[in-house]
Amino acid sequence: MRALVVGAGIAGLTVADGLARGGWEVTVLERAPAPRDQGYMIDFFGPGYDAAERSGLLPHLLRRSYDIGSVAWVDEQGRTRASLDYTTMRDAAGGRFLSLMRPDVEGALRERLPGTVDVRHGHRLVTYEDDGEGVTAQVATDGAPAAPLRADVLVGADGIHSRVRGALLGADPESHLRHLGYHTCAYTFADEALHERWRGRFAMTDTIDRSVGVYAARGGKVAVFGVHRSDRPGLPEDPREEIARQYAGLGPGVDGLLARCPAAEDVYYDQVAQVLAPRWAAGRVVLVGDAAGAVSLLAGQGASLAVAGGTLLARRLLEHDVAEAVATYERELRPVVEERQEAGRRAAASFVPRHRLGLWARRAALRAMRVPGLRGALLGRVIGKQAGPFGA
Ligand SMILES: Cc1cc2nc3c(=O)[nH]c(=O)nc-3n(C[C@H](O)[C@H](O)[C@H](O)COP(=O)(O)OP(=O)(O)OC[C@H]3O[C@@H](n4cnc5c(N)ncnc54)[C@H](O)[C@@H]3O)c2cc1C
Repeated sequence: MRALVVGAGIAGLTVADGLARGGWEVTVLERAPAPRDQGYMIDFFGPGYDAAERSGLLPHLLRRSYDIGSVAWVDEQGRTRASLDYTTMRDAAGGRFLSLMRPDVEGALRERLPGTVDVRHGHRLVTYEDDGEGVTAQVATDGAPAAPLRADVLVGADGIHSRVRGALLGADPESHLRHLGYHTCAYTFADEALHERWRGRFAMTDTIDRSVGVYAARGGKVAVFGVHRSDRPGLPEDPREEIARQYAGLGPGVDGLLARCPAAEDVYYDQVAQVLAPRWAAGRVVLVGDAAGAVSLLAGQGASLAVAGGTLLARRLLEHDVAEAVATYERELRPVVEERQEAGRRAAASFVPRHRLGLWARRAALRAMRVPGLRGALLGRVIGKQAGPFGA
């Protein structure tokens, strides 16, 4: 059997790995010219952790994980106003919790990808046709048409703005996005002194309507991310300019981070949105990861669900014929995704406080987490349900 996977993100690489290990011929198309190192720190727990353990990915992730001691919320004057010990989070997930940079998850997947998988960077899916017997994909490289590709199954792992989803549902892919009222950005830069300052610590600004986070990544890099309120889903023409404007005035510490923002092509910038797609599959085409059901960073499990979904989809395709495999996969995964989406929507109103009162409420909630009886209830909402068809 032959699969064509669109997108070499976390979901695409996971499904490619699973199918190739089961003996399928797999080609992955990725429009980016090379693996990209943008993205911020991910809390990796829940269904993806179980799936990674089962598939053998876990040791590769463990090698790349970070040991974060605590996260601190710091005001404009540089004073710590609240903090959370990361052990609390790890304990709430029964120790099954990793802190990973997004590109490191892709790196771990790439490291163990069977040599038979043909990953084509700089190749973009343009369109496809499913004739019932197979799928023919039109592909472009450097803007010019490349030879069409034929496969038994086409997997759309092409992220929240998925072109495959648009074609599958016959609609503008943006029409399936639910904007959650924020934009987000992330970038890294090298700086020895700042790296030393933030090593082993994770800080976020304790500020209204916008927040900037910082920590030291490997290789002498400093990783910065931002979230700010925006009612408009549309993205700015120049993300670098927008970042400088949105996060100005948060204190000299943040100004120093903004001054180091790299060129636009090295910055991750997107709206914070969920994908609400009525169907994840039609015929021989199926969606996975954010393309199917992005939960958003407010839910905190996008990468985990991409690993869980990719593993599950590959498993079902190896076990059943295409029609039964995609139906079973969607039936099993959709409730898990929808539960996380609901949690993300609940978090949307208060993720970045709107008023001083919101800042105080967050500080009080963080203090309450030090009380053992309250800790479980509060963290249960963050960690979510743990059960699913993903573990050993
Ligand atoms: C560069 C980058 C940085 C990110 N940083 C953050 C972050 O800081 N915070 C956060 O919450 N989430 C971030 N995300 C999203 C997060 O990684 C995903 O929510 C999660 O990992 C799910 O992964 P996915 O594989 O489903 O989708 P994605 O990670 O979005 O991967 C989709 C892949 O498909 C490729 N693609 C899209 N269209 C085509 C096409 N037509 N042809 C070929 N390839 C195509 C994209 O280039 C991309 O590599 C980032 C994603 C990317 C791509």
